[in-house]
Amino acid sequence: MIASSLTFYRRTTQVAFILVIFLLPVFDILRYDTDTQELFLFGSAWSLGLPEGFAAGHGLAASGQVAMQFLLKAILPWIIVLAVFPLLGWLTGRFFCGWLCPEGTLFELSDLLTLKLNGRRNLFEKRSNEPDQGRPNRLLYGSIAVLSAVVLPLAGGVALTGYLVAPRTIFSQIMNWEFTFGVKAGIIGVGIYMLITSILVRHILCRFVCAAGLMQMLFGWVSPLSLRLRMDTARISDCTDCKGCDTACFMNVTPRKHNRDISCVNCGACIEACNQELGAGNGLFHLGFGESCALPRGNCRNLVPSETLKRS
Ligand code: SF4
Ligand code: SF4
Repeated sequence: MIASSLTFYRRTTQVAFILVIFLLPVFDILRYDTDTQELFLFGSAWSLGLPEGFAAGHGLAASGQVAMQFLLKAILPWIIVLAVFPLLGWLTGRFFCGWLCPEGTLFELSDLLTLKLNGRRNLFEKRSNEPDQGRPNRLLYGSIAVLSAVVLPLAGGVALTGYLVAPRTIFSQIMNWEFTFGVKAGIIGVGIYMLITSILVRHILCRFVCAAGLMQMLFGWVSPLSLRLRMDTARISDCTDCKGCDTACFMNVTPRKHNRDISCVNCGACIEACNQELGAGNGLFHLGFGESCALPRGNCRNLVPSETLKRS
């Protein structure tokens, strides 16, 4: 993978995943209809496939058939659903958080706009790893921020409400500007949640609250094979201490730190930063699968300034 293209690839996967989230209920690939109380999966209503009058059935064969149907169509799908994030974590660490998660994408956009407008990613404090933005066009970024604060929560509200109310019902209510209580509550509730988390909470939610993130973090941490950030320890003396990797990290990880950081989402921003400093293909970081810690234990101790190591 060409490191300088990482951001392009990442933005592509992030936007593609948001589109998937929007389209799943539209095409009945995944949604629960609260009106008909049916679960739609891959285009058709999900049913246990039990024969009519199965409860009155007698005999071992009939009971066995019911038990098998229940196992295959109720218990097994749930196990698969519950296993997705632990499995992802075991194999790819927090890759989903950095490359796919729509909430993570929204928080990155909020970080960027705050950085352009205030010169720091965070609303509450200025950290030592804030990238220098020069003199950005505040009118432009202010307009984008206002537009985003209105459009994105409403769009998110419509998309997520579509998982409980048929999307065509929602669209027809929008066209006629007449809403049922459920649709109104869904859109406003999701919208307020998105607005509050994207303005006030952001990556704190990723680090400490999100269950999907915590499962990936935990299983990625204990896995001997998960994807993780690595540093070329043999070439550590090439580091110019430019701090590009530190400032690139929106998760407030110090990539050169000798301890592996469970907040790392394998986004590759530090890989790009180091390639910019040392030349394409000569950067000190890469993503790789395998055991042991992500970063060299002890190798960076003398290189990274002590105040940098104390941070985070
Ligand atoms: S340490 Fe590097 S790969 Fe990990 S989150 Fe930070 S910038 Fe992304
Ligand atoms: S970006 Fe590379 S050269 Fe710059 S401080 Fe980080 S590891 Fe060192």
